[in-house]
Amino acid sequence: MRHHGSEQEHAAKREDRRRRERAQDLGDGPTFGEALAATGLLAVTSRATRSIIERAEAVIRDGARVQLSVVSCDTCTATKSCCTLRTTAWLHEAVPIADRLRREGRDTPELREALRTSARLMDTLTSDSYSRPCVFLDASERCTVYTDRPSVCGTTFVATPPELCNTRGAQVRKYTHPLAEASATAQSVFEQQLALPPVPGSYLRPLPRVVLLCLEAWDRRDFASYLTSKLTATAAG
Ligand code: SF4
Ligand code: SF4
Repeated sequence: MRHHGSEQEHAAKREDRRRRERAQDLGDGPTFGEALAATGLLAVTSRATRSIIERAEAVIRDGARVQLSVVSCDTCTATKSCCTLRTTAWLHEAVPIADRLRREGRDTPELREALRTSARLMDTLTSDSYSRPCVFLDASERCTVYTDRPSVCGTTFVATPPELCNTRGAQVRKYTHPLAEASATAQSVFEQQLALPPVPGSYLRPLPRVVLLCLEAWDRRDFASYLTSKLTATAAG
């Protein structure tokens, strides 16, 4: 019985996907923003990343306690060199950030240009040579999308003095929690629900690139082909 039910569910999902693909081809389907709201993905993507970060934090703090070390990031007042690194995120992780930028009236041409510039540099420079403050870091060194930050930003912690993060060649002791699998699974569900076709490489791209794409696609009915064509044009090398 269970097997039978699951086959029916798969068939229904396939039909639903075909119906949405047809609507997108005809240009009469929902916009990206409407599709995210209708499928509940706006809330789901936000919950998924927050939960991954909470789980990682718990594991890392337990590990630090056992090793009698202290997570320096909690009380860090140093310049945030960790927010000048080349940062990648899944497309679904950019959704809550784009939604927030829109709600807070921050989706301006200037912001889009800043995202475009950082994305281009992240596409062309190696991680070692990239060093530029994140578009979302404010003048007081605070993350302006903190509660919606991508998992990579929320699952890496340092247990050495913050000053060492800003010292070239210093031995920085990092704690990272291996939750790549959970983020990839969340992305796969996201792609299925929105009937997004595969792209070269994957939907894991520089953070400014995926946020910019979400903003650009938000009011488009052809969002699936728009996102895939843009990501194919900037395929990660
Ligand atoms: S990684 Fe280093 S610079 Fe960044 S918050 Fe943690 S201690 Fe501060
Ligand atoms: S999103 Fe926030 S935490 Fe992540 S790099 Fe940018 S400013 Fe730093």
